[in-house]
Amino acid sequence: MNTAEIRRQYLEFFASKGHQIVASSSLVPHEDPTLLFTNAGMNQFKDVFLGFDKRPYTRATTAQKCVRAGGKHNDLENVGYTARHHTFFEMLGNFSFGDYFKRDAISYAWELLTQVFKLPTEKLWVTVYAEDDEAYDIWTKEVGVPAERVIRIGDNKGARYASDNFWMMGDTGPCGPCTEIFYDHGEHIWGGPPGSPEEDGDRYIEIWNNVFMQYNRDEAGVMHKLPKPSVDTGMGLERISAVLQGVHSNYEIDLFQKLIAAAARETSDADLDSPSLKVLADHIRACSFLVSDGVIPGNEGRGYVLRRIIRRAIRHGYKLGARAAFFHKMVPDLVAEMGEAYPDLKANQARVMDVLKQEEERFFTTIEHGMAILEADLAAMDAAGTKVFDGETAFKLHDTYGFPLDLTADVCRERGVTVDEAAFDAAMTRQKEQARAAGKFKMAANLEYEGAPTTFHGYDSLEAKGAVLALYKDG
Ligand code: ATP
Ligand code: MG
Ligand code: MG
Ligand code: MG
Repeated sequence: MNTAEIRRQYLEFFASKGHQIVASSSLVPHEDPTLLFTNAGMNQFKDVFLGFDKRPYTRATTAQKCVRAGGKHNDLENVGYTARHHTFFEMLGNFSFGDYFKRDAISYAWELLTQVFKLPTEKLWVTVYAEDDEAYDIWTKEVGVPAERVIRIGDNKGARYASDNFWMMGDTGPCGPCTEIFYDHGEHIWGGPPGSPEEDGDRYIEIWNNVFMQYNRDEAGVMHKLPKPSVDTGMGLERISAVLQGVHSNYEIDLFQKLIAAAARETSDADLDSPSLKVLADHIRACSFLVSDGVIPGNEGRGYVLRRIIRRAIRHGYKLGARAAFFHKMVPDLVAEMGEAYPDLKANQARVMDVLKQEEERFFTTIEHGMAILEADLAAMDAAGTKVFDGETAFKLHDTYGFPLDLTADVCRERGVTVDEAAFDAAMTRQKEQARAAGKFKMAANLEYEGAPTTFHGYDSLEAKGAVLALYKDG
C-alpha cells in the first residue's frame, strides 16, 4: 500500500464511523499568536475544543500538514538522526467534539490497526497516563491487550525523547492525558519499550497518540476543565506507512525513496544511504509547503525558521558536491508525489521554485567562504583535540556569511563538536549594544548639528537580530 492509499483508507475508515472529512488547514496558524507553525491536527479545531467555536459536526477526520521546527514541538535537530522524525509530516487524526470519549477512541484505533491494517497484535504496545485507570482498564480488560504490553507513564518534562503521556499543544491551550500506541520493529533494532532505559532507541516506534482533551491550560499553568471532554488523535502518516510497507525507517517508504532519488540526481551523489540525502528529502517538503502556504524567507519569526531550513538543506547539498542552486529542482518531484493530495502545492509550484531559487542563489554567494573558515577551524581543533567550537567565530559566520547558529552547530555535530553558545550570545549582545550606542550617538549628532529627525535604519535590523536570537533560544 503506498502512502496515498494509506491516507485514503484512514479517512474512509473514520468517515464510515460518522466522521466528517475536513481538509488540512494551512501551516501558518490562523490568528493564533501562540503558535509558530501548525504542529498537530487539532490546531484548526482549538476553538472548538475550547467551546468558542461550533461546527455542524461533532466528529471530524483529517490528514493535516504539520511542521515541527520551532516552538514547543521542535524536531529539526532530530532529522537525519532518527528513523522517525521529520520537520514536515502529515498527521492523520480523528476528533470528537464532546461526542465519544475514551472507550470509542480506543476501540476505533484498535479496529483500524488490527482489522483494516491487519497489524499483528503482539507487535503493538500501549502506554497510558499513569493515573488514568479508566484507559488502563479499557486496554487490558475490554480490548484485551496483555498487561505486560500496557505501560503507565507520567509527566516527564525535560528529556527530549522520554515519553510523556500528558499532551499539550503549546504552553497554553487545550491539553489532556493521552494513550499512545507503539509498534515493535523487531529485536534486530536497538531500543526498549517506552518507559524503559533504552526507550531512546528506534526499535519501539510511537505511531499513534490518542489525547483525551479535558483541560485548557492558562498562562499561569492552571488547568481549567473544558466544557465537554473531547478526543484528539494524531498518527504520523510516514510512520504508519513504514510499518505497513514492512520497512523500519520512514525514509524507506515510497514517497521518501522518490525524494531521495531526486536529491541524489541533483547533487550527483551516488551513495543513496547518505544521511544528507535524507535531510534534503525532508527539507524540500518543509520548505515547499511553507512557501506554498505563504511564508517567505526572511530575518524574523516564521521567515527566519524557513531561511534556516533552506540554508541547512543547501549546506547538505554543498557537502555532497553541489556548487550552484539545485534544491528548487526537487520541487517537481515533490509535486509529482504530493500534488494530488495537496492541489495548492501544485498550483504554487512555479512560485515555490522561484522563491527557493532566489534564496539559494543568495546563500551560494557566501557559503564557500563560510565553509572554508568553518573547515579550517575544525581541522585546527582536530589537531589540537578541542571539542568546543569558538562562539566568536560562530558569530562571525552568522554575521558575515549568513550561517545561522544551528547550521554551524549541525556541521560541528557531524564531527562530535559543540558550539560555545554562551560566547555566541555574548558576541551578539555586544554587537547589539555597540550598534545601539552608535545609533544614540548618531541621533544626538543629528539633533545637535542638523536639527532634523534622523532616519537611521540599522537599529531596526539589530532589534530584529535580537528577536531572532530569542526565537532561536525558544527552540
Ligand atoms: P515522538 O515522541 O516520536 O517525538 P511525539 O510524542 O512528539 O512523537 P505527538 O505530539 O504525540 O508526537 O504527535 C502524534 C503523532 O505524530 C506521533 O505519534 C507520530 O506518529 C507523529 N509525529 C510526531 N512528530 C513527528 C515528526 N517530527 N515526524 C513525523 N511524525 C511525527
Ligand atoms: Mg516529539
Ligand atoms: Mg512521544
Ligand atoms: Mg506522542
